[in-house]
Amino acid sequence: MPVKEGKMFIRALFDYDPKEDKAIPCKEAGLAFRKGDILQIMSQDDATWWQAKHEGDANPRAGLIPSKHFQERRFALRRPEVQIQPLKISNRKSSGFRRSFRLSRKDKKTNKSMYECKKSDQYDTADIPTYEEVAKYRRQPNDKYRLVVLVGPVGVGLNELKRKLLISDTQHYGVTVPHTTRPRRSQESDGVEYIFISKHLFETDVQNNKFIEYGEYKNNYYGTSLDSVRSVLAKNKVCLLDVQPHTVKHLRTYEFKPFVIFIKPPSLDRLRETRKNAKIISSKDDKGTAKPFTEEDFQEMIKSAHVMESQYGHLFDKVIVNDDLATAYSELKTTFDRLETETFWVPVSWLH
Ligand code: 5GP
Repeated sequence: MPVKEGKMFIRALFDYDPKEDKAIPCKEAGLAFRKGDILQIMSQDDATWWQAKHEGDANPRAGLIPSKHFQERRFALRRPEVQIQPLKISNRKSSGFRRSFRLSRKDKKTNKSMYECKKSDQYDTADIPTYEEVAKYRRQPNDKYRLVVLVGPVGVGLNELKRKLLISDTQHYGVTVPHTTRPRRSQESDGVEYIFISKHLFETDVQNNKFIEYGEYKNNYYGTSLDSVRSVLAKNKVCLLDVQPHTVKHLRTYEFKPFVIFIKPPSLDRLRETRKNAKIISSKDDKGTAKPFTEEDFQEMIKSAHVMESQYGHLFDKVIVNDDLATAYSELKTTFDRLETETFWVPVSWLH
């Protein structure tokens, strides 16, 4: 069924320029947009070309954009490993995304920062980001806080920003307590540094999809559970979670309504300037000792940020460049304030 005219809003998850599109019937009739733009759908009568305009645009004239299914097919053709079903229906409301959340079984590798989230065996349209249907959401006083997910490359300063936020108001912000199977050390308390559990229980919990991520380090498991996020939110605190970006799509549920902030490095020149006296804990260093940044660390950070942004940028609600720490922190703080009071576009499925 076609949607009622003008009642549907979508978030574009890719950049589109009709001038570059060989398939569009008339380039002048096309509507250009950028990843993250909110578009108002005016007509879905045609299976291949929808009519849309930018949200809030007073100009009543709509432009052509590729329909979701048409664009998915085009993207899939560029990625032969993705199987896509033939075009069957001409008009599709909503996204038809299927959520999959499966953690992999035990991995033999011992990498302490290894995060294990396996892709579903079956085709998942969420792997081909085109559009997602959105609606406006404003947090009500009795609503739980939205989960705040921080992502960014190693060394970008994400932990420092998180630490500053936490100490700014320990009653308001909280972090998860990870699980581990290693023995408790004398100065540690269960439920403070870690939740200590047996290997058997950890493996059972992995099988039951209770972990957002987990890794193995020196023959012990470490991981962050969904319940640990729930317990922070239940205390009426804002939960700050930093994860690898590939886990974000599994957290995008009605329950968590995550707000994803990408902490991005500045240019290479600015990295050299601003981090010349700073230190990094290298992922290759088993002992976790901090060392001065090397040129290789800077280049790796920029490369990794670029990969994260191109693969997962459509899941980021906000990008903060950590050039100068104080400025990045103040931008982060303002974002949190806005999050609690202002209206945001979220997937429609989060509102039902
Ligand atoms: P330790 O046993 O010295 O407390 O921690 C060893 C390592 O375990 C840490 O350096 C950290 O990389 C890793 N670790 C701690 N918590 C987690 C977690 O929640 N998930 C994963 N994947 N690794 C963790």
